[in-house]
Amino acid sequence: MPPVFRFAPSPNGLLHLGHAFSALLNFDLARAAGGRMLLRIEDIDATRCRPEFEAAILSDLSWLGLRWEGEVRRQSEHFELYRQATTRLSEMGLLYPAFESRAEIARLVMQREQAGPWPRDPDGAPLYPGDARALTPDRRAQLLASGAPYALRLDMAAAIARVGSLSWRERGEGPHGETGTVPAQPQAWGDVVLARKDTPTSYHLAVAIDDALQGVTEVVRGRDLFWATSVHRLLQALLDLPQPAYRHHRLILDVAGHKLSKSMRATSLVELRGSGITPPAIRRQLGLPPA
Ligand code: GLU
Repeated sequence: MPPVFRFAPSPNGLLHLGHAFSALLNFDLARAAGGRMLLRIEDIDATRCRPEFEAAILSDLSWLGLRWEGEVRRQSEHFELYRQATTRLSEMGLLYPAFESRAEIARLVMQREQAGPWPRDPDGAPLYPGDARALTPDRRAQLLASGAPYALRLDMAAAIARVGSLSWRERGEGPHGETGTVPAQPQAWGDVVLARKDTPTSYHLAVAIDDALQGVTEVVRGRDLFWATSVHRLLQALLDLPQPAYRHHRLILDVAGHKLSKSMRATSLVELRGSGITPPAIRRQLGLPPA
């Protein structure tokens, strides 16, 4: 079976050179391996994703010379599938609703920090400080019946106890040079959110399900997602999904050494195109061989 690669951008802004690098690297690796290249649009966040950004992504990728096979998969069109997965995890007793708002969570973290440092996840966000897991069934039922918003959180300790220790095959490198067989450390993320009352999935859940459904065998993406792989491996094990190999690649930095990002308004490919730069020049700038 030929290997299957994918590029999976979120249409919440314009693509920049970091995305171009990831997309071109996927494309080059797929071609060199005689593999397939798929495109997935990760548009679960209805408040930030917009059709005009998706149109710009498709146009940028074509301009770069990228081709993909088959239909583009849009996550927003598969909410029912994600719902089925959360139902399954709930039935396994691994999810619980947590009703704290973001502001309440921030307050709880501040409170806990008065007693000493509160643990943070690999992205630097504080772990869930609440105790919704321990709500009595009556209180939980009461809150659910009140229509209060909630997040569905994974009971991390119970999930890990169910599947034991896990690892993944890394063909690239982590932030500290981790490569080869990398032990997954999902506990570092605490009780992650897998869905919300009005959103049937989180990034972690959707990515694990879609990579499996699309038959992806090679996940090639930025090193900023290296430790998120721990959660993806855990979800694969819980939901009996096959595990792809991973290649986390270097990040493209700006002149000041910061990772390019949409929120920091990195120069978009659209602007670069407008300034007259050509796709071969983009490849050269990114240190990629000619197409
Ligand atoms: N949608 C994610 C992003 O644009 C990438 C997810 C992935 O490659 O797993 O950053």
